[in-house]
Amino acid sequence: MIIAVDGPAASGKGTIARALAAHYGLPHLDTGLLYRAVGQTVLDNGGDPASEADALAACSFADALLADARLRGEDAGKAASIVSAHPLVRAALIARQRAFAAQPGGAVLDGRDIGTVIAPDADAKLFVRATSAVRARRRHEEARKAGSTISYDRMLADIKARDLRDSTRATAPLRQAEDAALLDTSFLSIDAAISHAIELVEKQLARRTG
Ligand code: C5P
Repeated sequence: MIIAVDGPAASGKGTIARALAAHYGLPHLDTGLLYRAVGQTVLDNGGDPASEADALAACSFADALLADARLRGEDAGKAASIVSAHPLVRAALIARQRAFAAQPGGAVLDGRDIGTVIAPDADAKLFVRATSAVRARRRHEEARKAGSTISYDRMLADIKARDLRDSTRATAPLRQAEDAALLDTSFLSIDAAISHAIELVEKQLARRTG
């Protein structure tokens, strides 16, 4: 069984995908981490994320990098959203994501294009969203707890810039797959969002088997 969870930054898709993986006993892949690893490698090499050649060279990053805490930071996130617009970078990362999805028993993957490009035949698809103000507040709170002094306004501007880049790029833009169920987490607690997500997945599975 493959479950695809897509949505913009800080929508709650990662938390929901992890909870679905635990609920159904499936392995989980946070595909954003792959793009963050490419972005971080470009920065470490002194390259330019906007250069497709620099970004492509960074796609052969070492697996150990995926455990690096720097990938969770704003710099890696911003670089990720720039390198991810390069078609050759997306192509270089597709095989790895499809192989993860195709493993026996299935998997949960979260990202931007799982339901549209990576696993268009997924058994269940969710598109998770929340208002940009709510998402900026969540990220601002996380950053503050981690010791960052970034302002809320700056965080909101970053979130909006990332949304624009992700949804207007030519290759695999962020969009809801036609057959994905929409889940807006703006005014839901984490527990309520997770229960709602399980209900939506159950409905899709019942429709597929029935
Ligand atoms: O989800 P996360 O914020 O970690 O993703 C970082 C960036 O990686 C996103 O802004 C997006 O540009 C890119 N990404 C993507 N396709 C995915 C996952 C992430 O383009 N499947």
